[in-house]
Amino acid sequence: MVVVMRPGALEEEIAAVAERLRELGFTPHVSRGRERTIVGAIGDRPADVADLGLETLPGVERVVAVRHPFKRVSRAFHPEPTVVRVGGVAFGGDEVVVAAGPCSVESREQILETARAAREAGAVMLRGGAYKPRTSPYSFHGLEEEGLRLLAEAREATGLPVVTEVLSPETVPLVAGYADMLQVGARNMQNYPLLQAVGRVGRPVLLKRGPGATVEEWLLAAEYVLDAGNEEVVLCERGIRTFETATRFTLDLNAVPLLKLWTHLPVVVDPSHGTGSARLVAPMALAAVAAGADGLLVEVHPDPARALSDGAQSLTPGEFAGLMSGLRRVARAVGREVAQPGALPSRR
Ligand code: PEP
Ligand code: MN
Repeated sequence: MVVVMRPGALEEEIAAVAERLRELGFTPHVSRGRERTIVGAIGDRPADVADLGLETLPGVERVVAVRHPFKRVSRAFHPEPTVVRVGGVAFGGDEVVVAAGPCSVESREQILETARAAREAGAVMLRGGAYKPRTSPYSFHGLEEEGLRLLAEAREATGLPVVTEVLSPETVPLVAGYADMLQVGARNMQNYPLLQAVGRVGRPVLLKRGPGATVEEWLLAAEYVLDAGNEEVVLCERGIRTFETATRFTLDLNAVPLLKLWTHLPVVVDPSHGTGSARLVAPMALAAVAAGADGLLVEVHPDPARALSDGAQSLTPGEFAGLMSGLRRVARAVGREVAQPGALPSRR
């Protein structure tokens, strides 16, 4: 339930509504918009809105029942879109943000070459896994802390902030010590201790959708992060499991406009995992931006045939540059611009 205050409601009226919600067993959540203030009621207590008498309190315009189980992430609780800032990059603003890089950090040369090429083509963030969740225990699992160090070196060289996956609650402080944004991978979307751990650390979070998760389950996962104290969450659609086996996953672009209705959090799309095939990445990336995505996460590798993970879906730097020019046109067609990288850091 949310209590919508009248425009110009007094501070003491807002405080009285919050106090009454507390008395009724809820935690109040106040969201101040440009025109109105909304007081959301957080709690498990089933509320028959009509019986609570909140509408009679001074300054209250109306009380609205909320049909979703998520609260802090919901648009009803927070009508204005949230902008999540990572370094100089803003997710959820006017510009479309592109993060690019290899699936895994493999070597110093590989990550530096990819970071430079990604920046040159117009990426504003660098992605790359140092801790890799792999389906098989015999696959490459990443360079771990050495991979984090190499990502930090690539950030120094290019000025691009870094997003990388954190696999376990124990490694959150270590990964947060190097990364600008923490990725919670698809396989961990419902790892609740991990969601709480990233919720307690002061770093923005990229929360990927679990391949078997509904949009509601995904938003409840985001709710864990916000509830633990971290409001800087970006949602990433990366494909779900369906009966279709011709592509690695089925990229659910319905989720993009649906999320824009249901939540104030920014939404990005990963067409690399969503398709599993380099040839399908560019068309789905363009479609994602046309559908309203705030950004993209794209896998790029200097030599996809020799990649240690996800080579089949990785673009070469040349292919990525081609995608970026198409993206600028599509973004403009839907009234947006693609964010540009800032100046190169000066050499010290
Ligand atoms: C990745 O981004 O490399 C990754 C492992 O993604 P996902 O968690 O979506 O499979
Ligand atoms: Mn990958």
